Amino acid sequence: MRLVLLGPPGAGKCTQAVRLAEHFQSADVATGDIFREQVASGTPLGRIAQEYLDSGDLVPDEVVIAMVMERISEPDCANGFVLDGFPRTVAQAEALDRRLESAGNPLEAALFFEIEELELFRRLAGRSAALHRSDDTEQTIRHRLEVFANKTRPLVNYYERSGALVRIDAVGDVEEVTRRILKLLGQMTPPQAAKLGQGGVPEGQGPT
Ligand code: ADP
Repeated sequence: MRLVLLGPPGAGKCTQAVRLAEHFQSADVATGDIFREQVASGTPLGRIAQEYLDSGDLVPDEVVIAMVMERISEPDCANGFVLDGFPRTVAQAEALDRRLESAGNPLEAALFFEIEELELFRRLAGRSAALHRSDDTEQTIRHRLEVFANKTRPLVNYYERSGALVRIDAVGDVEEVTRRILKLLGQMTPPQAAKLGQGGVPEGQGPT
């Protein structure tokens, strides 16, 4: 399965990405995790990424795109992938589509995690206390939500137009959200899934 997960920070993408990757035996590719690892090991990529991560800004498109294109060429992605945190801009989405289409393996679905801002703050404050992530302070949370609204939200329209968008109600317990996702994805029979990648919108999956 080739999936991308879209949604604001705190929407639960990471939790669901792990579960979906296991379910579909696909690779879980989380760009935020990759950057944090690179920062921790002090690689050249990590040195570039650090200031963006700390401020909550996006790492420049060309850096992220090159990194993800390389990552999805690795053997563990041959059976599909769940991209968590990529794409975050229209330029990233276009680069991904170009790559997948030229390989004849279009994206199967873009899951958009829908959740209210108040619930996000509640969740992110909890995560900050539990995980000590340097970018989970109130100020950067606010900034990351703004970055999401300005740069990433336009991807909802982008994937709505291509027919790949699947809206997920992200409020509920972890199992419940996974069940919702699998149910919606299960409604795509293989021919419908293939059509999705080419911009078709199968019955019951279109924009509401
Ligand atoms: P969250 O869980 O809050 O959505 P992530 O762990 O996915 O955050 O990402 C953390 C940080 O890594 C981002 O704030 C950004 O600086 C950087 N980053 C991750 N993915 C991307 C991307 N696709 N484009 C640009 N920057 C990215």
